[in-house]
Amino acid sequence: MNTFLSSAQEAVMEQYRAFAAKAVGPISSKLETHQVCLKEFLQNVGQKGYLGLSVSREYGGQGLPFLNSVLFAEALSEQEAGLGLTLATHFAVIETIKKYGTDTQKSRYLPLLARGELFATLAFSEEQAGTDFTAVEAELVETGTSLNYNGKKHGVITGDFAGLLLALTKNLSSEKDPLALALVDGGQKTRINIGPDKTRLGMRSAYINDLEFKGVAVAKDALLVSNADSTEAMANYALDVAKVVVAATACGMMRTAVDIAVDYANKREQFGKPIGQFQGIQWKLADMETERSASLLQVYRAAWSLDEEPESFSTNAAMCKWFAGKMARFHSGEALQVLGSYGLGDGTMIEKIYRDAKATEIYLGTSEAQKVQLTKLLKI
Ligand SMILES: Cc1cc2nc3c(=O)[nH]c(=O)nc-3n(C[C@H](O)[C@H](O)[C@H](O)COP(=O)(O)OP(=O)(O)OC[C@H]3O[C@@H](n4cnc5c(N)ncnc54)[C@H](O)[C@@H]3O)c2cc1C
Repeated sequence: MNTFLSSAQEAVMEQYRAFAAKAVGPISSKLETHQVCLKEFLQNVGQKGYLGLSVSREYGGQGLPFLNSVLFAEALSEQEAGLGLTLATHFAVIETIKKYGTDTQKSRYLPLLARGELFATLAFSEEQAGTDFTAVEAELVETGTSLNYNGKKHGVITGDFAGLLLALTKNLSSEKDPLALALVDGGQKTRINIGPDKTRLGMRSAYINDLEFKGVAVAKDALLVSNADSTEAMANYALDVAKVVVAATACGMMRTAVDIAVDYANKREQFGKPIGQFQGIQWKLADMETERSASLLQVYRAAWSLDEEPESFSTNAAMCKWFAGKMARFHSGEALQVLGSYGLGDGTMIEKIYRDAKATEIYLGTSEAQKVQLTKLLKI
């Protein structure tokens, strides 16, 4: 029982779980090896309304709180964590447009993003600009009526097929703000070189590509502008949203890891009894469930605060990201340990979770970066 969620939200979560078990469970290994087309899968998810949960009805969404998007990502990640990662950037762009977009930008993009007819991602990182994303070198150059976007981006989730990129660039036209955020049309394929999705330790179902932009046309009304916040603050907001979704992804995989470990501990016998009857194993399982639950509460609080307590959102997002990531990395290892040599088998779910979990401490903001952020917010 999860006391943070209302009974209605608990019921909705069970629906998301049922959808994930049916739609993702049977194909999770195929998603990981790209034998199932991720783009088509996401289009299907979008048609069912799950990509626009937190988009208002006015723009074709379900008009639910951000927490629902987070619950959905958690449910999918119980089956396939790379899907949670993929949704992290899509939801980050949606929430950023909701908060900072003009009416034109909202009506142009939110309906398409909600229906899965367009996928969105963040194009922030560059080779030399990771944690310090303010060091970006990509630039927008004025060409009379419009802008030209040039530069290279590193590690862009769904870079392969995203039709909308929230791209961070240097700002050459204003001395007030050194950075600019633009909504870039990813469909200009002849002007975007897409690097391969390189093999990596985990999160293999996601597509992650390096991109090179060569004179991509960007309309002047595609810039995100805020009177209240700098571009750096807007970019941090997008990242904060992504972090909460990544932390939910970590919680989803932890739940599956605990279930697998408990099931195995009940079945596997050594010294004449199930290993789950040994206190050493019981304590591992108790630790896992307690710390999964603590991570989840932080994630739900962070998601809730986006709508209900915006002033604490950034702090909550940083806390839940590093905590859930650390717990997922540690407990996926503990769960694997419970399975002994069987846990090491290539292609088992627990081996996959062990590989996927590490990534939650790195992508879309490392654990160290979260602590740096918290240090600033706490004014230490
Ligand atoms: C799977 C994956 C998907 C990604 N998807 C996207 C995406 O869609 N869009 C996008 O823009 N980017 C994406 N990224 C990039 C990601 O956000 C960056 O990798 C991340 O911000 C870290 O940057 P870096 O890898 O360059 O590490 P670096 O910044 O070079 O850091 C290296 C190490 O130094 C530490 N460090 C850095 N600064 C400090 C400090 N001040 N104090 C203490 N320690 C510090 C870091 O924590 C880390 O341990 C993705 C990365 C991965 C791995």
